[in-house]
Amino acid sequence: MSRRLQGIGMTSRRTRERMISRLRQQGITNSNVLAAMADTPRHIFVDEALESRAYEDTALPIGHNQTISQPYIVAKMTELLLEFGPRKNVLEIGTGCGYQTAILAKLVGQLYSVERIAPLMKKARDTLWELGIKTVGFKHSDGGWGWPEHAPFDGILAAAAPPEVPPALLEQLAVGGVLVIPVGLEGRQELHRITRTEHGFEDEVIERVTFVPFLSGVSR
Ligand code: SAH
Repeated sequence: MSRRLQGIGMTSRRTRERMISRLRQQGITNSNVLAAMADTPRHIFVDEALESRAYEDTALPIGHNQTISQPYIVAKMTELLLEFGPRKNVLEIGTGCGYQTAILAKLVGQLYSVERIAPLMKKARDTLWELGIKTVGFKHSDGGWGWPEHAPFDGILAAAAPPEVPPALLEQLAVGGVLVIPVGLEGRQELHRITRTEHGFEDEVIERVTFVPFLSGVSR
């Protein structure tokens, strides 16, 4: 592993392990999720000036008015996605810096990721390549449309909060599939897990959260 990937001091494996103990204390129990996060250097997804803060339990700016999700929320959403069994075909909406993408790529079958801001998507793709993650399908698009060509998905995870769940995402969910998504306006969002059953949809409200808004259209 290169020195940059390996990290030193505040970006070392030890710092990362402290982050993992904190996640355990916060109630994360899925050992595959914890192992994937222990294995993935988070500091390479943020600007050099912020590297030393990459393992704090906080969201950090990644440019274009967007943030890298805090470690707890990445762990929690991934755990919710995987709880009912392995996922073979997953769609992520809001690639951002690609950190959540890297964690998912290690834990699911095929992963597709959609981002509406072109430079973020390009940078995320480069960072993942550096980590040897090369099988993720990327698309510069409004995730409100899902990705019909690769549907149905047995998992969909959204990293931005729409006021209401976009219908296309429900349509593109397989029976038995789960959609993990923050829903609501700024300041009053809740994380939902929606499971498609033979008869319709089951909606669980998990907890209050803070996400950037889910915006429509694309930006270059
Ligand atoms: N998991 C990412 C989260 C980034 S913030 C990370 O940890 O870096 C959420 C991202 O969702 C932003 O990059 C934002 O541009 C993107 N986003 C917001 N609305 C979107 C939409 N409709 N389609 C695709 N991406 C969207």
